[in-house]
Amino acid sequence: MNENKLTIIMYHYVRDLKHSRYPGIKGLQTELFKEQLQYLKKHYHFVRVEDVIAAYTGDNRLPDHPVLLTFDDAYVDHFSTVFPILRHEGIQGAFYAPVKAVTENKVLDVNKIHFILASTPADKMPLLLEEIKSLLDVYREEYGLKDFDYYFKKLAVANRFDTKEVIFVKRLLQVELDEQLRNILSDILFEKIVAIPEDAFSRELYMSMDQIRCMVDCGMHIGSHGYDHYWLGSLPKEKQEFEIKKSIDFIKEVGGDVNNWSICYPYGNYNADTLALLKENGCKLGLTTVVDVADLNNTADDAIYKLPRLDTNDIPKDANAPVNQWY
Ligand SMILES: [Zn+2]
Repeated sequence: MNENKLTIIMYHYVRDLKHSRYPGIKGLQTELFKEQLQYLKKHYHFVRVEDVIAAYTGDNRLPDHPVLLTFDDAYVDHFSTVFPILRHEGIQGAFYAPVKAVTENKVLDVNKIHFILASTPADKMPLLLEEIKSLLDVYREEYGLKDFDYYFKKLAVANRFDTKEVIFVKRLLQVELDEQLRNILSDILFEKIVAIPEDAFSRELYMSMDQIRCMVDCGMHIGSHGYDHYWLGSLPKEKQEFEIKKSIDFIKEVGGDVNNWSICYPYGNYNADTLALLKENGCKLGLTTVVDVADLNNTADDAIYKLPRLDTNDIPKDANAPVNQWY
């Protein structure tokens, strides 16, 4: 099935979780990554970003069952764990780095929340919720906040990966509250619960410029994941332009091709302004978080800027597994 389909897989943390400092992080165990690669080797053909761009512009045809591997957020795992494995197998990975995290030693809010949660075992969750409740009290007047129960009722809905408490914390601090307040609360909770200086934590969490340059030198693809990891579609055009220019400078600095670059939209979010800016600035391919395989027969103008991806969890992590519905 799925003739003329392109499978793009999205990865985040890939590490030896069990022996790491934060075994509670939601990531892929190294051994399972290797198993998944063996599974993919049996049933698919690995392709490069450049091959995909050429396929959409009609300059090239992709092999049967093409698959592209993508890695978001520039975690150091991508250099220390993923890169040596891909290099050994002769596979190109596409890596998407939020510029600010790499160049300014900041920790993205989304990552602060991951590590606040990873530092909170289930029996300590009530304490974290109490902490959040009292922070809402402190900032209620200034930010016109509703009461804790209102937010909890609205946001605390379990999904297939997380408990309702975890979902509540993520949604409150990632989406619900005013952006400025989200930053303030993430900072306070990170400082109190993770309790490691942000600058040191950032250096441990993300790749360095030198590591990224080394990967580019070895044939890996580096693309844009914005500067501040914002929802691009929610920004005015001038701010989007800033995000995109910063990305281009970054790609240039690590040795990438600024006339044939790609973007992975943070949170999969973009709008018409984003697409216009990308086309003006030499971007040739865009990755979303829509869960699907891409249809190579779709020749609509912007199809290559709206490519869907599967999560690593959608693909078997067993070399001998039979193919699944996405094949
Ligand atoms: Zn991201």
